Amino acid sequence: MSAWVRCGILVVSDRCYRREAVDESGPCLAQLLRSTKKFTTDILPVECVEDDREKITAAVLKFTDTIGVDLLITSGGTGFGVRDCTPEAVGPILDRQAHGMMAAINQQTYPNSIMSRGLCGTRKNTLIVNFPGSPKACSECFAIIEPKISHIIDLLRNSVTKIAKAHHEKPPSCSCGGDSTGHGAGDALKNFPQAQPGVAFRHRKSPFPVTPVQEAQRMTFEQVESLSTTRVGTIKLAEGLDRILAEDVRAVDALPPFRASIKDGYAVKSADGEGERRVLGQSHAGSESETKLERDTCVRITTGAPVPDGADAVVQVEDTELVSHDQQTGEELIIRILKAPKPNQDIRPIGSDIQPGSVVASKGTKINPACLGVLATCGITQMKVFAHPVVGLLSTGDEIVVPETSPLPHGKIRDSNKTVLTMTLKKNGFSVTDLGIAKDDANALTSALENALENCDVVILTGGVSMGEKDLVKSILVSVFGGTIHFGRVFMKPGLPTTFATVDFNGKKKLVFGLPGNPVSATVTCNLFVLPCLRKMAGFTDYMYTVVKAELKERINLDPRPEYHRGVIEWNSGKNWPVVASTGNQISSRLLSISGAHVLLCLPAKRDSEATISAGEMVDTIIL
Ligand code: AMP
Ligand code: MG
Repeated sequence: MSAWVRCGILVVSDRCYRREAVDESGPCLAQLLRSTKKFTTDILPVECVEDDREKITAAVLKFTDTIGVDLLITSGGTGFGVRDCTPEAVGPILDRQAHGMMAAINQQTYPNSIMSRGLCGTRKNTLIVNFPGSPKACSECFAIIEPKISHIIDLLRNSVTKIAKAHHEKPPSCSCGGDSTGHGAGDALKNFPQAQPGVAFRHRKSPFPVTPVQEAQRMTFEQVESLSTTRVGTIKLAEGLDRILAEDVRAVDALPPFRASIKDGYAVKSADGEGERRVLGQSHAGSESETKLERDTCVRITTGAPVPDGADAVVQVEDTELVSHDQQTGEELIIRILKAPKPNQDIRPIGSDIQPGSVVASKGTKINPACLGVLATCGITQMKVFAHPVVGLLSTGDEIVVPETSPLPHGKIRDSNKTVLTMTLKKNGFSVTDLGIAKDDANALTSALENALENCDVVILTGGVSMGEKDLVKSILVSVFGGTIHFGRVFMKPGLPTTFATVDFNGKKKLVFGLPGNPVSATVTCNLFVLPCLRKMAGFTDYMYTVVKAELKERINLDPRPEYHRGVIEWNSGKNWPVVASTGNQISSRLLSISGAHVLLCLPAKRDSEATISAGEMVDTIIL
């Protein structure tokens, strides 16, 4: 079945308009649309106009350009009466005629069709069909086109972007100054509110298809891949932790730079075998030893000290005994080697750890503490890493005030999303620009977004993306900034209205995440969509979150949508694997359900055969 088809019905009749007759065709068409099995409908209230060419044109334009319905059926005004002028009112504003559809209707309703001059065609993304005025004719004509409507609407929509555009484009009368790159969008604002068709005509069902989570994630990654260049920056050693190397790093020097002893003991000639050795002196770590070994001599040596010339083995002190010493100084004179040494025994050759010129950390490596140690030992104190995207965070909502607000005015709530999301990103190494709080108002949102797009690579908004009349974010992204909405709903709980868009701004592609305002939804969707994307932008090859299997401690009722249920992990339950329990009430406004959570349990959508998931089952959990 196709996505929702938004339908408009326009009855053209002088008598119905003047209330001299009761309209029967409008309700008949509404009933036909409501009961069709071929597609799902969202039907606007029936409108009625008199048989007046200009008024009919204006009414049609309201449906096609202002509201942006998918299907507009007109009824009446198609005959040969003096006032009948529906085709004359509609014809000039059609972009394309649909002769085949007209022919099919005419053929199948012959001979009555001889009396009808109705047109079929498209304007923008709307399919317009003119039916005759009687309910009987409407039913007959509808039955003919009904099987094809869904396919035609899909073709008209063509892409998600077009769906959005179809529903939100400004009417031609709106003289907005913005161009497709978003320049001058500010001027466009003055006109934007008038572009809204009025609350009565808002969507009652979302025009956005519900995208599965994995598919939505894939769409975001695809956009990251299409970004023109990944920036690279040079940072100091101490700033390198968890960054991604943007180039191979090579050692200049060998490590060890000299033949180094592995043991505390005596440097010897292996060919001398067991037996007594005269002690010539010592080589300590950090000192230079000038001594050169001859037959049956040795040099006392410490771990990490340079092995003197002439020596080819080290014998650990445990494999020796004292033979004689200087009574006055206590210095060793002669020792005995108890075990015949092998050549090269307990010596690290030059470059045995790191060869000069070798790659010690390769491009794409996530820098961990040990990697920083390697760089330090190689004397590399700065390196090139992939730059982090500039991320901005904008809270939206008339009711949202800064946390410092006290006492709280009636109807207001303190912004918690800003803090949770900033800290979530910070914990993952990303810094965030605070873009403030925007009111649910086209002008306020547009200027906040313009500032955001100007200054950030990635804009994260919370609120304003669901079905409320004040949820303007999607429509502004599309109609003011010419953005492309890649998805406007995701099949998940919480987080259904999650939105992802790209906007070309000043020649650069910007990513926009519109997260739901509910604090839990915003947090969950930030973890699922924003973080992996930011990591990918920052050069991570391993950018997804960590998933761990855990045993469910209690039975959980499944939701019709796949749920990301907040859970607490017990690592020491006495089992060899983790056990996970729910954090309780999962309502998406209840931040407490996530504040104590360690993980998100990935629960499947409920099916007829499976309404619950039992205690003891193993489930995937996303580590927060
Ligand atoms: P919205 O997505 O704008 O429809 O908001 C959904 C719910 O989330 C409403 O109850 C809002 O008051 C609440 N909400 C929106 N933004 C925030 C925020 N920044 N901090 C806390 N709650 C919020
Ligand atoms: Mg809101």
